[in-house]
Amino acid sequence: MQRQVRRWRREGVRVGFVPTMGYLHDGHLGLVRRARRLVGPNGQVVVSIYVNPTQFSATEDLSKYPRDLTRDKTLCAAAGVDAIFFPDDKQMYPGRAEGDYSTYVVEERLSQGMEGAARRTHFRGVTTVVAKLFNIVQPDVAVFGAKDWQQAAVIRRMTTDLNFPLRVVVAPTQRERDGLAMSSRNVYLSSDERRQATVLRRSIQFARRAVSGKGASASRLKMQIARLISLEPTARLDYVEFFDPDTLLPMAPRRGAQMALAVFIGKTRLIDNERL
Ligand code: AMP
Repeated sequence: MQRQVRRWRREGVRVGFVPTMGYLHDGHLGLVRRARRLVGPNGQVVVSIYVNPTQFSATEDLSKYPRDLTRDKTLCAAAGVDAIFFPDDKQMYPGRAEGDYSTYVVEERLSQGMEGAARRTHFRGVTTVVAKLFNIVQPDVAVFGAKDWQQAAVIRRMTTDLNFPLRVVVAPTQRERDGLAMSSRNVYLSSDERRQATVLRRSIQFARRAVSGKGASASRLKMQIARLISLEPTARLDYVEFFDPDTLLPMAPRRGAQMALAVFIGKTRLIDNERL
């Protein structure tokens, strides 16, 4: 990958980059289309596929995370991806299996709440792997999904703070017809759970209606959303927050505030967010 990128850069070719964990869906492909528009027809679009172990805790779904490289290759080819970077753990974390890997990248502010509070070592893994991928792929522009709003904010901050010479672009969340945000993890859901999973989007719509006048109280709205979620037999609210879309600081729920929530549907943990 590094040799290939050196060649492209010598030729003045622009490189667009979409990091993923694979098991691709239309959400990922939306990022690919955005990367293509950003680098133009003569640019190169690189997709990385790597299920990054350091962003999973010991109790999470690393070993059963869905994988299908053959299908991913077909989807990438159809979407006009120029190169797939598919590293293994030995390349990304030399020595780690033997306990001999020791350098991590940590963002200390935006990564504290929400996903960072629920998953203590998650963002350390994300910032570390994305920094490594940036160093390997050396893109001019990298595209991330609004689906993972906090992640995009953390990556943007890391890119600025560490002077990575590239632009970070965030592309909109792609949804199924009933509003469920596309996610590789949706395959974990039984058909009954799949129906219940629309409660994330319905919670956002509920909040939107609630703030459409002069806003609402955060604690009251959180309680109402918790109640809405509890109506689904296997759903359990992990968190719901209202915050400033840029700083991620808590904000009263009103128009322009960002809302994010995490909900367990059975054993599957789903997240979603939207601007109110
Ligand atoms: P993942 O493979 O889940 O790590 O996601 C890789 C990238 O795709 C991240 O930037 C995600 O935010 C983005 N992504 C995942 N799902 C969606 C979606 N439904 N719509 C837009 N982007 C998404």
